[in-house]
Amino acid sequence: MMIKKIQIVTTQCKRCGKSLVKTNRSLYGMEELKVKFGDICSDCMSNEELGEILRAQGTGLLGHLRSGRGR
Ligand SMILES: [Zn+2]
Repeated sequence: MMIKKIQIVTTQCKRCGKSLVKTNRSLYGMEELKVKFGDICSDCMSNEELGEILRAQGTGLLGHLRSGRGR
């Protein structure tokens, strides 16, 4: 089994400037989300945005499991 290296990086929330900790790679292939919400802290996200993330995480997870199963 290969262990992928995930690094913790600090950044700033682009809305309030609060420092944020995030990983340098997205989990479950959420690149799109990372680009969209990667630099926004949870305090600054609206319920709508949080909902979008949860939905995307759900589908991302499913895709992740599905692609893993084929091997
Ligand atoms: Zn913020």
